[in-house]
Amino acid sequence: MDVRSGFIETIGNTPMIRLRRASAETGCEILGKAEFLNPGSSVKDRAALAIVRDAEARGLLQPGGVIVEGTAGNTGIGLALVGNVRGYRTIIVIPETQSQEKKDMLRLCGAEVREVPAVPYKDPNNYVKLSGRLAEELAQREPNGAIWANQFDNVANRRGHYETTGPEIWRQTDGRVDAFICAVGTGGTLAGVGLYLKERNPNVVIGLADPCGAALYSYYTTGELKAEGESITEGIGQGRITANLEGAPVDRAYQIPDAEALPIVFDLLRTEGLCLGGSSAINIAGAIRLARDLGPGHVIVTVLCDYGTRYQSKLFNPAFLRSKGLPVPDWLETTR
Ligand code: PMP
Repeated sequence: MDVRSGFIETIGNTPMIRLRRASAETGCEILGKAEFLNPGSSVKDRAALAIVRDAEARGLLQPGGVIVEGTAGNTGIGLALVGNVRGYRTIIVIPETQSQEKKDMLRLCGAEVREVPAVPYKDPNNYVKLSGRLAEELAQREPNGAIWANQFDNVANRRGHYETTGPEIWRQTDGRVDAFICAVGTGGTLAGVGLYLKERNPNVVIGLADPCGAALYSYYTTGELKAEGESITEGIGQGRITANLEGAPVDRAYQIPDAEALPIVFDLLRTEGLCLGGSSAINIAGAIRLARDLGPGHVIVTVLCDYGTRYQSKLFNPAFLRSKGLPVPDWLETTR
């Protein structure tokens, strides 16, 4: 029988999908790694599993133990689901600005959710720092111990992508991949996949697709971390060089406004049947820009990070889009 055992074995080995319109418009093969088809519906299932396995291997987690994390939501969902399988409790610190759908899903998965005001990383009350302090406190009090997943600076995250996502992309393209591009939340995907592909073929071009409001486009083009503008996308948009990003081989960087990216997910839903979140839109827009720079005939891979229903109240909500000055497709008006 061809059977996978439960949640954990179902993570990874996601399909590679040819994006028809993006490919036709650029003359390149633009391929999306379908990470939204992971069992927790996002690319972050991989990081969650890699972090838990690393903590187990180090003897830091035992049944009944607690996993604490600061997350925009997807990593928390992955951690909660891995935790359910392995017998760990999960406590998630999340900025209150994140979509209601993700918070509801976290609670449904059994995570204890602590919503906190969204403040910059330099503030001691930033959600990531709060989660680190909470983990430290709980490690003293919890009978079975507690760990901080620390996805931003725990390089088990990028190692997970180096060991799984990178090799899958190489195999699925028969080694014909010319370029890989994605946005950065922790940098685990970009660095893990980038380092793996460069090792197989140093000529593979690695690109960054940065949303407005993030500082990495500026960093990789001028050397200075500087952020301008804003984006409604969630889970991406970094203001610092995380440990996962250190040494990431970034050859090209693009800053992608929401107004350029979001029409791509609207179109994909209505013409190619793919329902994706906002970070996938930034990634595909980045792949199209990279394709135009490289010229026709190249194989360009990007990441379809998570499922669009996770953002129904924002990305697919005309009133919300209008409040942000973003374009609303006609058909979306009639769905409400
Ligand atoms: N897209 C979404 C929807 C995410 O939740 C994340 C992770 N926060 C990313 C993209 C970015 O992935 P990474 O953390 O590997 O940079």
